[in-house]
Amino acid sequence: MSSPSRSFASLEIAPGQLKNLMLMGYEEMTDIQAAALPFGLDGRDLIAQAKTGSGKTAAFGIPLLDNVNSLTLQVQGLVICPTRELSNQVAEELRRLAKYKDNMKIVVLGGGTSIGPQIKSLAHGAHVVVGTPGRIRDHIEKENLDLSDVQTLVLDEGDRMLAMGFVEDINFIVKETPRTRQTFLFSATFPNDIVQISKRFQNDPEEIIVESHHTRAVIDQQFYICQHSQKLSALTTLIGHNKLNHAIIFCNTKQLVAEVAKYLKDKGLSAIPLHGDMEQREREQVLVQFKHRSANFLVATDVAARGLDIESLPAVINYELPRDQDTYVHRIGRTGRAGKEGMSLTIFTEKERFKLGQLGQRMDQVFEYESIDSLPNNRLIPQEPEFVTLYISGGRKDKLRKGDILGALTKTAGIEGQYVGQIDVADRSSFVAIARSEARNAASRLNQNKIKGRKYKVGFC
Ligand code: AMP
Repeated sequence: MSSPSRSFASLEIAPGQLKNLMLMGYEEMTDIQAAALPFGLDGRDLIAQAKTGSGKTAAFGIPLLDNVNSLTLQVQGLVICPTRELSNQVAEELRRLAKYKDNMKIVVLGGGTSIGPQIKSLAHGAHVVVGTPGRIRDHIEKENLDLSDVQTLVLDEGDRMLAMGFVEDINFIVKETPRTRQTFLFSATFPNDIVQISKRFQNDPEEIIVESHHTRAVIDQQFYICQHSQKLSALTTLIGHNKLNHAIIFCNTKQLVAEVAKYLKDKGLSAIPLHGDMEQREREQVLVQFKHRSANFLVATDVAARGLDIESLPAVINYELPRDQDTYVHRIGRTGRAGKEGMSLTIFTEKERFKLGQLGQRMDQVFEYESIDSLPNNRLIPQEPEFVTLYISGGRKDKLRKGDILGALTKTAGIEGQYVGQIDVADRSSFVAIARSEARNAASRLNQNKIKGRKYKVGFC
């Protein structure tokens, strides 16, 4: 039984939403939800410290959707996110949360994708818009988007947006919304410029801080010093010693991302690189493969890994210390989610030692470290990933849903359900994880058969 204060039933929400949350499997509120929802539903502004994985989308999404009148086809909710990946994830969660209302239209306006389809969607009307600052501003300037009916504004990952230089775009956008709106500001850290943004745009906000406690309690942070020339072997030592087979490895530059990914691959490990210079399609495929467990290690720069929503990642590895403390907090926040213990392993060299001291001071913690040579050099045992991700050339816009793909696999193609992993449906493509042993068979059968009455191209990611 959940305690009364943790139960969604203790909130003033529509009975339809309560049932919807139950169907989604949300049995009780997460820390951020328990702290934020009573205020949010009461119409108050919030400034909240929370990271992806804490359940923050529902913490703002439930009040945001509660404020929407679905009979009026005007933009009433606006969520601004730093990246298009995060925008997509937020929109996906909002769509699930919005199921209790009929015909809710939630439109994503992410940068880096073509603008034409977005203009069309906006022309059909939307209740909620989720997007990146530059692209939202673009649509306002081109008069595709009218924000004069916005009731709820959310600035998600505020510190990150400011660090990415979006402050002017944000100022521009917020001025387009009514002063009477409710404003939620989420940020992993509260540097001075975030405090300024809050002062400018919020009305007596309630401060919600739950994260730092969480971070310290469940993440085991370990630090290893090594010679510069030893770094690559230090990485495999850490992987071997901790028997890791699912982790993100963070690097500060895209050159290092490429170098580290190649090294791990040469050692027989399943590693894929991800950095901001890759094309959108390629990035999407990499993210989905890692999420599906079709690749064991993701080697990424910070910007590229933003918004990556993976539950209970057992470990993150910092191939070097990040440039600043906020980035460190974001990186280690990828592990130890939903109350599970996580591990953060950091490799650094003598030259970076002062940074560790600074990090400790800023985080009010004492970080002890060991030499990488103190660990036994365990043999690496390469493991094949559990799944292979198949690409299907149709998605949401082709009216494909997860159930259609699952049905085509299990009923038409005769693949047993136990071999089917996660399914992700994007606008014009879908991805499904299939157990390695069944992947070829599944791909060829899907290629021969129709899915929901139509033929699609199916291949390997
Ligand atoms: P977020 O921090 O919003 O990215 O959410 C992280 C994950 O937790 C998402 O997969 C949510 O669907 C899930 N989640 C959010 N709130 C709850 C809850 N109260 N109970 C169970 N899962 C939740």
